[in-house]
Parts: sequence; structure tokens; C-alpha cells
Amino acid sequence: MSAIRLTFYGGAETVTGSNFLVEADGKRILVDCGIEQGRDFSAKEMYGPFPYDPTSIDALIITHAHLDHVGRMPKLVKDGFRGRVYMTPPTRDLAELILRDSAHILAEEAEQRGLPVLYSDEDVSTLFTLVETVPYHQETELAPGLSFLLRNTGHILGSASVRVKTNDGTSVALTGDIGNSPSPLLPDWEPVTDADAIVMESVYGDRVHPDRGDRVGILRDQLKKAIDKGGAILIPAFSLERTQLMLYELSNFFEAGELPKVPVFLDSPLAIRVTEAYEKWGATYFKPAAEEEMKREKSIFDFPFLTKTLGRPESDKIAHAPNPKIIIAGAGMSHGGRIGRWEKRYLADPATTLFIVGYQAPGSPGRLMQEGAKSIRIQGQDVRLRATVGVMEGWSAHADRDELLKFAEGCLAEGRPKVIFTALGEPSAARFLAQRIHDYLGAKAVVPTTGESWEITKDGARKA
Ligand SMILES: [Zn+2]
Repeated sequence: MSAIRLTFYGGAETVTGSNFLVEADGKRILVDCGIEQGRDFSAKEMYGPFPYDPTSIDALIITHAHLDHVGRMPKLVKDGFRGRVYMTPPTRDLAELILRDSAHILAEEAEQRGLPVLYSDEDVSTLFTLVETVPYHQETELAPGLSFLLRNTGHILGSASVRVKTNDGTSVALTGDIGNSPSPLLPDWEPVTDADAIVMESVYGDRVHPDRGDRVGILRDQLKKAIDKGGAILIPAFSLERTQLMLYELSNFFEAGELPKVPVFLDSPLAIRVTEAYEKWGATYFKPAAEEEMKREKSIFDFPFLTKTLGRPESDKIAHAPNPKIIIAGAGMSHGGRIGRWEKRYLADPATTLFIVGYQAPGSPGRLMQEGAKSIRIQGQDVRLRATVGVMEGWSAHADRDELLKFAEGCLAEGRPKVIFTALGEPSAARFLAQRIHDYLGAKAVVPTTGESWEITKDGARKA
């Protein structure tokens, strides 16, 4: 009987740096190759060698386009990997946008700090010559008898779980990130009922999203209040998914006459290009109702007074537009990008409102504002904070504690899985989820540690 060996190289007891090795039928398959975020850019984890020989890897399968799942792919190529890379078609487009954007940021930062460049635009180009796109639900052969299957996880456009199956039917699945379903755009996550072992995410393993049920109503009411105040409205947004959700909801509010018509600026080249990819793939990768909308309307992310400011001169003009106006710009935690220039300009004005719509890492400017700082440092400048800061819970792209348990429950089938590993979460969250899977579902759940290997067979799972 063939066994699958599973090794946790990244994403064990931590949210980011997703990187798992699956060895089966003599092949070595990596799932995800992400960077660790929230650490110093020059951390040795980013520059250091991979814990395996990149030339020995036969294939790489990617769950989704977030940097903590794809960010080290170009370095893997630079270090000699030449196998096939598999992902869904939307993930391919999104990953290229994200990696090219980050290549420029990395090059700038490396120059400032006198460090070698982690990878270049050319490494990104070489990487994409190796990519093969695979749609959901298509069993794809890696070698005779060895195959994989992708399923939707409802997290961002194109996000997928990966199930690898050997010649005797032994299988393991890795979820990547699991979405905060239901979403107005994406289909709900799908459970994995055919795996002997499942590695699942656990970011919010110990927390619930308050206000999840009425997040749209809360967004509308808060925006109304902010517009009535008459100042600038700043939304630091993540370019991938959150920005598109905001545009979609704004478009609906305006169309329904639920908000006064004020100018909206999308001031992020990356977010503008990502939105184009959403428009390209929406008709085939959204949930049926949103696909119908995509077919009826030219774009569900556009409306008459939305201005997309791709270049710097267009962006500069935003300053002259009278208030109230809404400015959506990256970065999501106010740690870079164009939002900084608007924060410097408007945060000292009490008429301004800033909305926080996602997770803010400890120490980030966004987190400091969320915690009520009176002054913050932005792009080397101290800015007094007199604006109103509104925190919108419920817009997370991740399933919460109860939804993750529901996912695990949905994966239970006759005699399967033998074990569920809770990964891609802080230790407390991963442990809490593992405990609940054990207590509520009676399944074996394990919190893996970095570097740990397990042997999975049809009969069970044991630590190698
Ligand atoms: Zn993600």
C-alpha cells in the first residue's frame, strides 16, 4: 500500500508563509510557496534557502493568489525549480499582478537597505512559462496513477483547495484559506469528503465575526453618516477581493438611491488591474446570481461617478475634488501605497472619516488608528488624528470559528478523514479549533509544528 508523506514547512502555528510538501508515488509536490508577512522584510525566512532542494521538486500546486501563498514562487524558480506549476485560471492572472507589483516594491526596499534583490521581474516571467491552469473539479494527472483535484474555497476569486490522490486511492487535501461565505460574488466553499487527511486553515479558529449578518446595512449607514459630515471618506482597502466587494456594494447603494451621489476614487493601480481580472473572470467564476448580473451589466464594479486613477497625475487631481468624496486606496493596513498621501492630507480634519475594513497587524498604522491613537507616523511624517475612525467587523475574507467547524463537519465522510490538521493560524487559534473538532465532531485533530512530517495511509495517520 502506498503512503503519502506530508511535511509542514510553512504555515504551521502561523497565519502566513503557506508551504507544504506532499511526497507520494516517488514524486515531490509542493502546495503553496508563500512569504511570511508581518515580519521585517529582510527576515532570513525570505532570503534564506528553502528547507528542500528546489531542483528536486516535481510540481507546485497553488491554492490562491495572496502573497502569503505565492510570494516565494519566483525565488523557487530563481533557485532552480523547473517543474510544472498548477493553479486555476483566475489565480494565474491575479498571481501575476500581485507578484509583479511586489517585485517592484521588493527591489525598492532592497535598494534602500543595501540588500540583494530577492527576485526580479525576469524570475516572475520565467515562473509563468511553467504555469498550467486547471479549472475546478478536473482530476489532473501528475504521474501515472497520481492526480490532484481543485475545489472552490470561496475565499477570493479562483481560490481552491487541493486534493492529491495516489495510485491506490490514498489522499490528502490542503484547504489554503477558507472564505467568509456567503459572499455576494463567490460561490460558498465546498467541503472535501474524499481525503484521508486534511490540512485546514484556522486564522479565526477561536473568534467569531461580529456583525457578519448585517455587514451591508452597517456599511451603508456608516457611509451615510460620513457623507453627512461632509469630509473626505478614506477606505484603506486590500486590492484583492475587499476592494471589489466595496465597489460592488457602493454601486448597489447608489443605484438604489440609498446614498447621496458623491464622487468615488479608486486610487490604486494594483486594485484597478485586479478589478479588471474580476471583470474578465466574473462571468464564469462567480456564483450564479452574480454571473447573471455580470452578463446583464457591463461591469458590476463600475458606476457613473467612479474615477479610476491609474497614473500619478490623475491621482493628484483627487485633491481638488470637493468634499464629501470617497477615496479607496491601498495598502489595507495603511502601511504603504497611495492611501498614505490622503491620510496625511485629511486625517487632521475632524470632518474626515476613515473606515477599517479588514485585519490590521499589530504595529501597523491601521492597527494604531483602530486602537485610538491620537497621532500616527505616515511616510516619515507625524499626523494628528482628528478624523473619525470607523471599524467594520464582518468584512473579513476568512471563515470564522463557527464556519470553520461547519467546514470540518462537512468534510466528514465514511471513515474519512483519519486526521484533520489545523494550520495557517496563530497557535491559540489552531489549538482552539483542533479541540472543538475533537470535542464536537469526535474527529482526530492535530496542531502540526514546523518541519514535522506525517505518514498518511488508507488505514490511518502517524507522525513520521
Ligand atoms: Zn488568503
